[in-house]
Amino acid sequence: MAPIGETAGTDPVSPDAIGSYWLASCDDDLTPRPALTSDETVDVAILGGGFSGLWTAWFLLQADPALSIAIVERQICGFGASGRNGGWCSPRFPINPAALTRRFGARTARAMLFAQQAMVDEVGRICAQEGIDAHFNPVGVLTLARSASQIPSLRQSYDAYARLGMADACELLDAGQAREAVHATEVQGALRLRVGGTIHPGRLVRGLARALERRGVRIYEGTEVLQTSAGMQPALVTTGGTLCARRAVLLAGEAFLTSLPDYRRQLIPMASTIMLTAPLTADRWDQVGWAGGECLSSYVHTTNYLTRTADGRILFGSRGAPYRYASDMSETALRENANFGWIRDRLLEWWPSLEGVEFTHQWAGYLGVPRDWLPTVHFDSNRRIGHAYGYTGHGVITSAISARALAGLVTGAAPDPHAPYLRRQAPSWEVEPLRWAGIRYVQNAFLRMDLAETAGKTPPLDAPLATFLGEP
Ligand SMILES: Cc1cc2nc3c(=O)[nH]c(=O)nc-3n(C[C@H](O)[C@H](O)[C@H](O)COP(=O)(O)OP(=O)(O)OC[C@H]3O[C@@H](n4cnc5c(N)ncnc54)[C@H](O)[C@@H]3O)c2cc1C
Repeated sequence: MAPIGETAGTDPVSPDAIGSYWLASCDDDLTPRPALTSDETVDVAILGGGFSGLWTAWFLLQADPALSIAIVERQICGFGASGRNGGWCSPRFPINPAALTRRFGARTARAMLFAQQAMVDEVGRICAQEGIDAHFNPVGVLTLARSASQIPSLRQSYDAYARLGMADACELLDAGQAREAVHATEVQGALRLRVGGTIHPGRLVRGLARALERRGVRIYEGTEVLQTSAGMQPALVTTGGTLCARRAVLLAGEAFLTSLPDYRRQLIPMASTIMLTAPLTADRWDQVGWAGGECLSSYVHTTNYLTRTADGRILFGSRGAPYRYASDMSETALRENANFGWIRDRLLEWWPSLEGVEFTHQWAGYLGVPRDWLPTVHFDSNRRIGHAYGYTGHGVITSAISARALAGLVTGAAPDPHAPYLRRQAPSWEVEPLRWAGIRYVQNAFLRMDLAETAGKTPPLDAPLATFLGEP
């Protein structure tokens, strides 16, 4: 039996303490569902009430509606990254098209990107079918070049799509066109991806949980998994009882899996931080432009992602607190070191006209990053235990693809031959303290590189080394 190591804590964390606008505005009762209080047996037992766990249950029931399924969630559904993210339904895989092609060949790269695009549409379709009012808006994705030196990156991205026969999925915008689309400073050009969209992730994660309950799935909140067992009697041993599984035990805890001994080196928790403005007035929106409301970002090493919410706010997400030794996931440290000031400055740098704008929400969360940025989906049919994890910052859609693949492995569907993420485990991260030193170095170097570029200075001497170490 595998014990789960130190955990992020069993005390309930209130949605107010998390600070996520998505949870605050999801229109669902966030009072924890009743916890598991006795031993139970189901066909499939799932750890984690985020997108991975919920989508896995969804696709299991699509394959076999008679399955009995229980989900065990330590806090509430949507407590993790699923209730805190940027709201992008991204058509991009965590690995960019050029790197995907290099690593897996054109055929597989194309298949993976088409699967990602198709899942964007499917999520929208499922929301409509299930009456989940998650504000799904298929507006596409716009990546800005905000310095002349970023133009080659735009072109390279476009060329990588074109080489895969996907030129009609994207469009290069010159400086004039890009400035017309978004009235931010320093805009030199843009790449538009036609597929993709924005969503209210809080409404999606909570709506999905309700849809599953309507189909008979049992969801236990405020119930922590303490141990897992595989083999003859697969089970999740929880704070409220043992959940035995006739068919499978599935682990869908993403970054939180790092507290399990078996996963300590399979992925790291990487923090990301978000600030959200109050709804902007029509005048402010005229100054901002961005009438299309696309998923918006620019080429930076420290990452940025912007979303226009359905009620007219700007969400600005960027780098979070530095990596903590041994993958520590303290919620307190997450908030205390969250770089909110940095994000406010970035927003005003994009749109100086927003000086004085009110920010109503700020929060941070942990995403799971595998060493090679490729997710992992696996089910050991002898030991009857499986997992899906490792979506870096693209899990809104990639988790659904991985969940469908995991459900397929459990129910015996033929595995997709173009799915390199079907593998037992991800390559290991370095041992500590090497891992801590390396990640902190790359985080720091990426920040220095972005600051140099913004200031129009030459990149730091170690930029190639940091890029080599920090990109998949
Ligand atoms: C700030 C931020 C912004 C992001 N922006 C985007 C974006 O715009 N687009 C995008 O595609 N992706 C984005 N991501 C990534 C995306 O949100 C995640 O990849 C995705 O939500 C992962 O879903 P999950 O269900 O695998 O994990 P989670 O949502 O983290 O869920 C895991 C669940 O497991 C539970 N759990 C863990 N351990 C236990 C245990 N022992 N017992 C019981 N329960 C347990 C946790 O409480 C948690 O609820 C972002 C992530 C963050 C943090």
